[in-house]
This record gives sequence, C-alpha cells and structure tokens, in this order.
Amino acid sequence: MRISDTERREVAENLRNLTIGRSIQYKEQFFDELAEVVVGFEDYHDFNVVLEKLADLIEPQPIDGNTSDGYHTFNELYHHRAVLFSVIVENFAARAWKSKLHADGTMYEGMFIVGIETPDGQATYHYDVEPYWNLFRCKEVDRAPEWDGHTPDQAIERIGKLVDCKTDRPTTHIDVNEHGRACCANCGCDDWCLADSSRYCPNCGAEVVG
Ligand SMILES: [Zn+2]
Repeated sequence: MRISDTERREVAENLRNLTIGRSIQYKEQFFDELAEVVVGFEDYHDFNVVLEKLADLIEPQPIDGNTSDGYHTFNELYHHRAVLFSVIVENFAARAWKSKLHADGTMYEGMFIVGIETPDGQATYHYDVEPYWNLFRCKEVDRAPEWDGHTPDQAIERIGKLVDCKTDRPTTHIDVNEHGRACCANCGCDDWCLADSSRYCPNCGAEVVG
C-alpha cells in the first residue's frame, strides 16, 4: 500500500500529540487512542490492522519515477530537462547531434544520446527514444562521438557558457540533385523523406525554410 507524504505527516503529528501517561490511564484506553490516531477509527479493536498500518508508515518507500521531492516527481523533472534541452539544441543545431548508439556501439535500453559541442567541449544527455527522439531536431549520427569524459557537472557548466555564443541553426531548402532526387541544398544529402513533417535535414541539422 502506497502512503502519501501528507498522510505520513498527519499520522506523525497525531502520534506526537498522543500524550501517554497524562491522558491515557489504561492499556485498553491506550490502544483505542493509538488506533484512532493511526487508522482513524475510535474504539477500534483489531490490533493487527493498527500494526500493519504502522509498519507501512515506517517502511521506506521504493524510489521510482513517481518519487517526489515534495514539489515535483522525478518523471516531471526528467520531462522538463528533456524539453528544455531540446530548445537549446534547436538554437544551436549546428553544434548538436543525436544517436541511438554510443561510440562503442552500446546503448541503454530504449534510450538515445544527444549532445552539443560547446566551446569547452561536449555536453550530452540520455533520454528515452519514446517520446523524445523526434523532439530533438538536429543531425542524426550512426554512432555518438567518443565520450570525452565529461561529468554531469561539467555538462551543465558547458551548456551555461553557451550564453556567450550566437545561436547558429543553419537553414536550407529542398533542391534536386543530378540523380533527380530531392536533396538538402546545404549538405547535398538525399537520404531523407520529404513527407517527414519535422522540416529539418537529419544529415546536417539545417532547418528547411521556404
Ligand atoms: Zn543537410
């Protein structure tokens, strides 16, 4: 049974206010009072139910995506981090790449890596392919560049320094190459689907305008 933090606080406060000795004279009366503050019933006689509830309140809760710091769950913060970084990638697309494989060919299940080459070096994050792959409109590479050893602290510090850089999303338009195939005017890549509504070149990350 999952117990909310609010309920834990309420029961803890009830227990602290249960002044044994002064107000409770007998064992039976103590149990009735305890049952009332823990499970919320007066004159409740099932000792096991009260003990079970106390055990549930004491036992550490499993930490997962729904774990909260009291304001936001991990899932919520993870989603915010993904959307915020996608906007940074959008504005520094010439520096950005994404890949479903690390340089050594490995990857965490269901995830991909997206990175920006900042003036101080790489900054990268992993996200779930579903639903985040298409959120990042930048060039797609078969394998990510070799990890330069940056820590999460360094990644966010490097991203912070992008404030001094001009945004640099290249633009392109659809051209026709010598084979009569639609291609990116910026890089010549014709290996993309024009029906794709993402409107950017997966080879060079240029935005299709006009
Ligand atoms: Zn291109």
